[in-house]
Amino acid sequence: MSAPADMRAGFVTLVGAPNAGKSTLLNQLVGAKVSIVSPKVQTTRARVTGIAIHGGAQIVFVDTPGIFQPKRRLEKAMVEAAWGGVADGDMTVLLIDAQRGLTENVERILDGLEQQGRSIWVVLNKVDLVKKDELLGLAAPLGEKSFIDRIFMLSALTGDGVSDLLDELAGNMPAGPWLYPEDQISEMPNRLLAAEILREKLFLRLHQELPYALTVETESWEERKDGSVKISQVIYVTRDSHKAIVLGKGGKSIRQIGQMAREELTELLERPVHLFTFVKVREKWLDDPARYREMGLDFPKG
Ligand code: GDP
Ligand code: MG
Repeated sequence: MSAPADMRAGFVTLVGAPNAGKSTLLNQLVGAKVSIVSPKVQTTRARVTGIAIHGGAQIVFVDTPGIFQPKRRLEKAMVEAAWGGVADGDMTVLLIDAQRGLTENVERILDGLEQQGRSIWVVLNKVDLVKKDELLGLAAPLGEKSFIDRIFMLSALTGDGVSDLLDELAGNMPAGPWLYPEDQISEMPNRLLAAEILREKLFLRLHQELPYALTVETESWEERKDGSVKISQVIYVTRDSHKAIVLGKGGKSIRQIGQMAREELTELLERPVHLFTFVKVREKWLDDPARYREMGLDFPKG
């Protein structure tokens, strides 16, 4: 089976430091929310795909966890998933937060990408926060690196400059048949997407270390005859005190969080959603391979 000459398809991996705006950009490129976003670092835990069709090309974008020097096991798994995404993609796009600039961490990521021996494109993101001359000052040293083919400047938040990037990416995809049905916007199963949506609301609502010490799983998914869907989700925390915070006084906090998640799920699934959330204390979930599997991560030894 050979593809028509004008059909193109491929995988583009988005990498960068935590909070560079990778997930925000993915959602802009796809034109729908497929990856969760919060002001907190390490919101994205595993590879998330979003699929766009543009200029005859089907582009499968792979959003990745931020790259940094990991200490804990979950962090190691996340950073490994990000580098795995780079190895698997047809192209790599490195996002740099233009306001933060070339931090030590960004320099380390650049070194790592150079060692992969393939050229990359760079996006200077958050141009809405930075003056033009600062941007040019940031682009200059990057332009001297031979493994960087192109540099784009855009705002993933406002969408300014995103269509230029999309045009160029589409033109650069390898020839070949499309990989997914035309109307598919993600590879992620609905159960995982639903868990991510609740986790986003928890990240937005809870403070300090708590978001990092919890995980969400969809336990059951029941399509009902009346066209609605009943979804049960478990929030795993590591301590009783965390459970109390997630629940809030008289369950007020979890009710509000669940309500936000339910509204978003209703919109996404285009049908009524009955959402049931349970908080369970599981002291050692961060050392449990099954929890990593559920998130789509490999379990790092040690
Ligand atoms: P990720 O960790 O790289 O996936 O970053 P996110 O997409 O989760 O974004 C981190 C934070 O940066 C969020 O609060 C976003 O709203 C914000 N953000 C992302 N892109 C932009 C941008 O272009 N401009 C501004 N002002 N904020 C942005
Ligand atoms: Mg992200």
